[in-house]
Amino acid sequence: MIPGNFEYYAPASIPDALGLLKKYGDEAKVLAGGHSLLPMMKMRFAQPAHLIDLGKIAELKSIREEGGTIRIGAMTSENDLIWSTLLQTKCPLLIEGARLISDPQVRYRGTIGGDICHGDPGNDHPALMLALGASFVLRSAASERVVAADGFFVGTYATLMQPDEIMTEIRIPVPAAGTGYCYSKLKRKVGDFATAAAAVTLRMQGDTVAQVAIALTNVGPTPLKARAAEDSLRSKPLTDAAIAAAANLAMSICEPAVDQRGDAEYKTAMAGEMTQRALRAARSRIGR
Ligand SMILES: Cc1cc2nc3c(=O)[nH]c(=O)nc-3n(C[C@H](O)[C@H](O)[C@H](O)COP(=O)(O)OP(=O)(O)OC[C@H]3O[C@@H](n4cnc5c(N)ncnc54)[C@H](O)[C@@H]3O)c2cc1C
Repeated sequence: MIPGNFEYYAPASIPDALGLLKKYGDEAKVLAGGHSLLPMMKMRFAQPAHLIDLGKIAELKSIREEGGTIRIGAMTSENDLIWSTLLQTKCPLLIEGARLISDPQVRYRGTIGGDICHGDPGNDHPALMLALGASFVLRSAASERVVAADGFFVGTYATLMQPDEIMTEIRIPVPAAGTGYCYSKLKRKVGDFATAAAAVTLRMQGDTVAQVAIALTNVGPTPLKARAAEDSLRSKPLTDAAIAAAANLAMSICEPAVDQRGDAEYKTAMAGEMTQRALRAARSRIGR
């Protein structure tokens, strides 16, 4: 299938891109890796008259640490995340998640910003962002704001972003040294989206849980923060019984869409299973 006609722009700076967005408003869309947008255009679900390619803006492709925060340019590709020595040392959860996204072709072009902005509950970065307590820098020609990942995803393909905004940066507080982590993802085959997945970060103080975050992929209209499950674990020993009880609480918030990956009952059960696996793996990695 061939997309409808559009004008193509490749600005070299963020202000130039924002100027174009302001000028063309609702008729414009920004293009990142194109792995989600171009199929949408081919199917006529998106028909932008003006396509603003962010690919030439070098400023949007970087990974650095500043004042205890990891700052990732929105146009950083999955592959660049995977090979980042900073992330290998400071935020291996992000690498584990990125490695499970599709296949090398998608990972070479697909970007972290595109994965988040698309608002697809099947995408993996949104739950990773919730588990890592990330925030996003959104810029328009007139202003800049920083919004928390928690609350950013408001529905299927819907986020807090306004049409005149570009996500420029993803900010992640550097997890404390030795934080346990895991992204446990069930997929039918290599390259598939998650049937269900769970992202976990975990810290212990002695024998009890000091910090835990649990977020789920593709079992609701948005990524889900499993708050009751988290609450049930805090300040208590992380026994297998506690893990099973937390998984049940995580399952209780699931509302998966029914598709070729399974019915709601199966996907919900798999969300529970992924939660248990992620918690156990995170526990085993603490201090490593
Ligand atoms: C076969 C296949 C399998 C896949 N499997 C997975 C998977 O398992 N897990 C997963 O997470 N993803 C998967 N994807 C999706 C892939 O990761 C996409 O790359 C991602 O969803 C979108 O990123 P992109 O850079 O390609 O963005 P694009 O497709 O270019 O853009 C997506 C949307 O985000 C907007 N956008 C992009 N960047 C910005 C920005 N900086 N500011 C504002 N708006 C922006 C665009 O306007 C568009 O609406 C798969 C894709 C394919 C083709």
